[in-house]
Amino acid sequence: MKLLLFDIDGTLIRSQGAGRETLAYALEQLFGTAGPIAEYNMSGKTDPRIILDLLTAVGLQAEEVTPKLSQIYELMAARGHEIFPHRDMHACPGIPELLAVLTQRSDIVLGLLTGNSQKTAPVKLAAAAVDPGLFKVGAYGSDAMDRNQLPTIGIERANQLTGYEFTGYNTVIIGDTPADILCARAGRATAVAVASGWHSITTLAKYQPDHLFENLSDTQSVVQALLAT
Ligand SMILES: [Mg+2]
Repeated sequence: MKLLLFDIDGTLIRSQGAGRETLAYALEQLFGTAGPIAEYNMSGKTDPRIILDLLTAVGLQAEEVTPKLSQIYELMAARGHEIFPHRDMHACPGIPELLAVLTQRSDIVLGLLTGNSQKTAPVKLAAAAVDPGLFKVGAYGSDAMDRNQLPTIGIERANQLTGYEFTGYNTVIIGDTPADILCARAGRATAVAVASGWHSITTLAKYQPDHLFENLSDTQSVVQALLAT
């Protein structure tokens, strides 16, 4: 059995900045500012990390922000419902074909490992025509600010759900940023990196993932890599 934990943005789908728009909206609603959101690099970071960074940069205290995190997530998801259908959100190359193959297999549990909150994740996927119901477990930004804590959470949830004993050894983390590769290492999982997001294959190669792809469109090679080791 293999547990496959997929990142969302840049890996499964491209949201064309629509995710950033929902965050800016929520922060402006609740705090009157979204801080330096235009120039902030969100790559591989969890939503709570991003929110704290943006708001503390303009003088807010973490103690003022943290109690409002769940409210922020609610607003982001609600805003996403409104605007995502009007944005050009789509699955990354090869994702529909890959998911069609993976969901046919009984030796795979599909899951998510993402910096998005649990509220936003399904809204984003659905807007890009990826069925959120395909993913049986998830570890989300709303679970931990530090992405490196998410593999343990995802693995525990998969074990509870299936009764199977997943460890890092039979878990694969698929993502588009150096942070995804480091997170796989933190969870002792296999790291599969894909350059369908904002990082080039050259940049990703420097972090020495176990497998590296330009995109996930060669279904057969990708499935082979996901099931290797
Ligand atoms: Mg990503």
